Amino acid sequence: MTRAPLAETPSPNWTPDQPIVRIADVHKSFGTFEVLKGISFDVRKGEVVCIIGPSGSGKSTLIRCINALVPVTAGSIEVEGIDVTDPRLDKLALRRKVGMVFQQYNLFPHKTALQNVMMAPIHVLGQEKREVEARARALLAKVRLAGKENAYPGELSGGQQQRVAIARSLAMRPDVMLFDEVTAALDPETVKEVLVTIRELAEEGMTCMLVTHEMNFARDVADHIYFTDRGVIVEHGPPATFFASAQDERTRRFLSQVL
Ligand code: ADP
Ligand code: MG
Repeated sequence: MTRAPLAETPSPNWTPDQPIVRIADVHKSFGTFEVLKGISFDVRKGEVVCIIGPSGSGKSTLIRCINALVPVTAGSIEVEGIDVTDPRLDKLALRRKVGMVFQQYNLFPHKTALQNVMMAPIHVLGQEKREVEARARALLAKVRLAGKENAYPGELSGGQQQRVAIARSLAMRPDVMLFDEVTAALDPETVKEVLVTIRELAEEGMTCMLVTHEMNFARDVADHIYFTDRGVIVEHGPPATFFASAQDERTRRFLSQVL
């Protein structure tokens, strides 16, 4: 049975000249442990934002708050004018706007690359199979996996699997993509092909927020870099300023280790 496509949830308060993501004084605690201690910044449509910082500084928690995988303790996050911290949030509507790719690609091992990309539009959105298949093939071509449609995840390299995961996310037609250390678990030779895919997406105007340790990528592709440490933004700026004149000692120490 084919369900009618869901109507786009209207965001009456939002127009594209306003920030697409607004993060305002976000705090997050797990029990008594405060992981995010007042994070605020905006992302404009089409921007590429990189979040860097030492392990444990709260980067993944922040990214997860943005698509409501983790509830914030205080503060607010809006995506296209939708308050993601509202308990009445329509999570499905949010997930259609915000795609997320993790370090672990978690593809269904018993489904082909094509089937993995087709699943959510068919089963979550109830879209028509023929249409979804055509689009899934186009998305696999876009992430440079034409010819691998019928391969199972186990037959693909880590970088190829991660690109299937990106295509799977794009199949929901998101307006914002979140990437959480998507190349951290990959062999060095396949890291580049994944970064090329993300760069191409960015060049097409996709709004991207990435947690990454790939400093060359951040330097070349990011519009803005945020350096976090222990739950606060210590320093931020466009790459040219950020890399040339990091002021804070913690940032300088971090950069000296990764560059
Ligand atoms: P990063 O991505 O920068 O490495 P995380 O956001 O993963 O940092 O984690 C920040 C801190 O929050 C870490 O100390 C981590 O152990 C803790 N943390 C993350 N998720 C949870 C959770 N679900 N429950 C308890 N503590 C958590
Ligand atoms: Mg993390």
